[in-house]
Amino acid sequence: MKQAQTICPDCGSYNEMGDNKCWKCKRPITDDEKQQAQANFENTLSDEDKQSLQAKQAEETPKYTLSPNENIEYKISREVVVTDIKMPFGSMVVFILKWAFASIPAFIILGFLASLVIPLFQGPAGY
Ligand SMILES: [Zn+2]
Repeated sequence: MKQAQTICPDCGSYNEMGDNKCWKCKRPITDDEKQQAQANFENTLSDEDKQSLQAKQAEETPKYTLSPNENIEYKISREVVVTDIKMPFGSMVVFILKWAFASIPAFIILGFLASLVIPLFQGPAGY
């Protein structure tokens, strides 16, 4: 398999794409030089090579692509199942305090709703 290589401008050594330094003279290899090397490399490829390279990249990065419909279904059917909560003690205390304070208006609303609904199940006033 052919691979892109950078050529060190100082000593002419070939280096792997992933290397940030020339293996021989330790000169740093810049991102620009890497991009240039990659572009040059792709220009030298035959169509066949390009296809096999693309096939290899496709193998390495499996993409799960969804059709638009599937994507919508996925969003709708997604649910979160919480099996455990790991939280430091301090965070837990703050969390429960917040919960307690948040529950005050919630209970006021519930109480208000109850005051509207409960009389419906009671007999006429005075009995
Ligand atoms: Zn070098």
